[in-house]
Amino acid sequence: MTAPRCGAWLGAKRRYCRATETVRPYRTGLRCPAHTPAAEHGRPEPPPGPGWPVPPLAAAELVDGCAVVSGGQRSPPGVR
Ligand SMILES: [Zn+2]
Repeated sequence: MTAPRCGAWLGAKRRYCRATETVRPYRTGLRCPAHTPAAEHGRPEPPPGPGWPVPPLAAAELVDGCAVVSGGQRSPPGVR
């Protein structure tokens, strides 16, 4: 099995990056830290989120909280 390698194209060097350290899969393919989508756009890496995927219970609480904040109607009486 071959190690995952960064698939970023280095135009100036006319070759692929091919780095193998801390390569992670991104939507654009495997990338090393220097060639993540954020890095290529000159932005810092987004901080780690609270966790993904969101557990079904937490998602329900999130929706419920939004309904309260926006004054929306909650579940009709008798449901639950
Ligand atoms: Zn790279």
